Amino acid sequence: MYDDTADSADEAAKGAWPGVRALDTEAVHAGRDDLARQGLHAVPIDLSTTYPSYDSRGEAARIDAFATDGAQPDGPPVYGRLGNPTVARFETALARLEGTQSAVAFASGMAALSAVLLVRNSMGLRHVVAVRPLYGCSDHLLTAGLLGSEVTWVDPAGIQDALRPDTGLVLVESPANPTLAELDLRAIAHACGSVPLLADNTFATPVLQRPVEQGARLVLHSATKYLGGHGDVMAGVVACDEEFAGRLRQIRFATGGVLHPLAGYLLLRGLSTLPVRVRAASANAAELARRLSADPRVARVHYPRIGGAMIAFEVHGDPHEVISAVRLVTPAVSLGSVDTLIQHPASISHRVVDAEDRRGSGVSDRLLRLSVGLEDVEDLWRDLDGALGAAVGRGSLPAENAGVSTSV
Ligand SMILES: *Cc1c(COP(=O)(O)O)cnc(C)c1O
Repeated sequence: MYDDTADSADEAAKGAWPGVRALDTEAVHAGRDDLARQGLHAVPIDLSTTYPSYDSRGEAARIDAFATDGAQPDGPPVYGRLGNPTVARFETALARLEGTQSAVAFASGMAALSAVLLVRNSMGLRHVVAVRPLYGCSDHLLTAGLLGSEVTWVDPAGIQDALRPDTGLVLVESPANPTLAELDLRAIAHACGSVPLLADNTFATPVLQRPVEQGARLVLHSATKYLGGHGDVMAGVVACDEEFAGRLRQIRFATGGVLHPLAGYLLLRGLSTLPVRVRAASANAAELARRLSADPRVARVHYPRIGGAMIAFEVHGDPHEVISAVRLVTPAVSLGSVDTLIQHPASISHRVVDAEDRRGSGVSDRLLRLSVGLEDVEDLWRDLDGALGAAVGRGSLPAENAGVSTSV
């Protein structure tokens, strides 16, 4: 049944993962299983916007079928907005890694989230329950009601009480952007009852966490981040059961937020190194988090229990001075690339969130967010050490969130 989250989650958990092949094997083979038989090794890129339709009666039937359940048409996709074989390879591979039946790719993470909201809105289920912090634009999309949805912000413990008959979605991030706060997804999925839980898994990636195993019905990625992994492709994807995937494809067809085939190619290539990239960057991040938390110039460090390559930390000095003093690390928004990036969420990634709401969810004006890459950890530490030194005594922010606890 469409809304029976518990059943579909159980089924997904049973049927999907751990699969026959290990995650590292899927990363390099999923979505490519037919290549050798075709006499190919690298993935072909299909740039067609349209496809020959000699049998127009047959095409009418296939289009009618798509309008009914959004199933990917067999054979050529008719038109580029209905589907693309190269993008489909990436979707197949990501679904394998997340342990879901299907995945649907979009032009960006925000296009993917928009499509999920539109699916629910189109069913009259306009109410969303969400836990802060979320990525700044996700927060903004909900708060501003840009797509006609209405949001209730709650603590995880308040989810069940906030559900209404018209609640179409519960939305969480864990670890969250930018504080790295972690949630008990299993408990949250339970509290959701029959309402689909969407877990944004951008930070953890399927290498560290597969939310459907814990009862989430929908898994969202900004594929712009770790899945692409090299800072050169913008994309989003939702991994889910085939029934919801069909609705997402219908929305994608109607609203046009398709992923370009070249991006699909780059993402599939990115997936093949995802496990090794995530593990190597996480090892760097764990070591940097350890050093930062022992450093007297640092007030607080947030590093998730499940690990990962993201660190959030607060400095005693002026965080803007740290940003302007790094040399090897690039001061830039976004994350998940092979190189290390640092940014000030209150100024950039979460600027669009109302200042009071932002601070209330733990995004203090002193917080810095570090996306750790694959450089040598000693080189990274030398750069951070120098930047922290430059920040000491160079003006400071008003005493706000003055606690000096270290939660690493
Ligand atoms: C970046 C990001 C998004 C938005 O993705 P885009 O690809 O930039 O549209 C959504 N969620 C999280 C957690 C993000 O970091």
